[in-house]
Amino acid sequence: MPTFVRTEKCDGCKGQDRTACMYICPHDLMKLDKDGSDTGHAMKSYNQEPEQCWECYSCVKICPQNAIECRHYADVVPLGGSVQPLRGTDSIMWTIKFRNGTMKRFKFPIRTTAEGSIDPYAGKPQADMAKIEENGFFNHMEQNGYREGDRSELINL
Ligand code: SF4
Ligand code: SF4
Repeated sequence: MPTFVRTEKCDGCKGQDRTACMYICPHDLMKLDKDGSDTGHAMKSYNQEPEQCWECYSCVKICPQNAIECRHYADVVPLGGSVQPLRGTDSIMWTIKFRNGTMKRFKFPIRTTAEGSIDPYAGKPQADMAKIEENGFFNHMEQNGYREGDRSELINL
């Protein structure tokens, strides 16, 4: 299901040049319609091409206004149905709206550790940016069972 911005909820990330959804989208699909000339809704973002959406939901998760919902294509799911997330600090609530008005809500935990407590390197050394372009930089240290790749071991067809 691709994503769509609910214009009544979006605040354009308070007028920043690069909104949170624009920043996070790996396919560069989100766009802030500054003057409303694209959509008729000034200072609201929109998904420029839902058919190109990777459906990664990064924008859904980062939107501070919970303004981005997921909707299936109308030829698969009749118009009127929607899936709306409400993200909290430790859980996410999905509101499923059916075409006949029935609503169902599902709440799932989204983390098991306290915010800000993650150890990104998990005991491994931090990257030395001066060496980052060296082949096999990270694993040449041969630790934890990993070692540098050996081209002669590749299958060449
Ligand atoms: S779901 Fe992913 S690919 Fe689709 S608009 Fe959001 S961030 Fe971009
Ligand atoms: S992140 Fe949310 S509030 Fe910010 S511009 Fe995108 S849709 Fe609007």
